[in-house]
Parts: sequence; structure tokens; C-alpha cells
Amino acid sequence: MFKFKCSKCGSNELVYESWVRCRKQVVIQTSGHIEYFDTEIDDTDELPVDCRYVCGCCGKPPLLYGNQITNEAELVDYLKMTIGQRIEMEAETNQLLEQQALSELNRLEENETNINFKE
Ligand SMILES: [Zn+2]
Repeated sequence: MFKFKCSKCGSNELVYESWVRCRKQVVIQTSGHIEYFDTEIDDTDELPVDCRYVCGCCGKPPLLYGNQITNEAELVDYLKMTIGQRIEMEAETNQLLEQQALSELNRLEENETNINFKE
């Protein structure tokens, strides 16, 4: 396997990001001021939908065929690729997205033309 290297900032730091329950004790002072104490993080209670791997430095998520990496199996597939293969994959994904955006634009323009034709 190869090291993680962020394609945006070049960092080798990888972090797993998840959204967990965070609770704080609320104390209402006699002055009416509301204060928060004792932050309690329950990392066993997490939202499964938003867990993903991101660069620990700039926060950019590495992408596997255009998708965010959310589990270890996908991460291993990603790490098996050389840096060159990853750059190629990212370029292909960008090209595909560009093509999709272009064909969507053409479709919208075609619709517009059809609407104009009917008038
Ligand atoms: Zn980065």
C-alpha cells in the first residue's frame, strides 16, 4: 500500500471525520446570562451518513472514482493506487463531471430552443 498524500495541499495527514452527539450542561445565572459547561462527547452515538476520510490539513476528502471514501475497504482500494494513478483517476472524474455538466447545459439550451420555436 502507498501513503496518503492530499492532492490539494500535499499533506500526508489523514483523519476520519464523523458527527457525534455533543452535550453541554446549561447553567442559567441569576443575571439571566446563560452559560455552558462540561462538554460531553459521546463518540458511540454518531451519524453514519456523514462519516468520511478527509485530509487532516486542508479538509479535502480523497475521492475514489468521484465518491468520498467512507469505509476501510474503500480506503484500502485507494491506498493501493500509486500517486500517479490517483491523479489520473481524479482527472478522469473531473473530465466526466465536465462532460455531464456540458451535456446538461446542451439539454437545457435545446429545451430553450424548442420553447422559442413553439412561440
Ligand atoms: Zn490537504
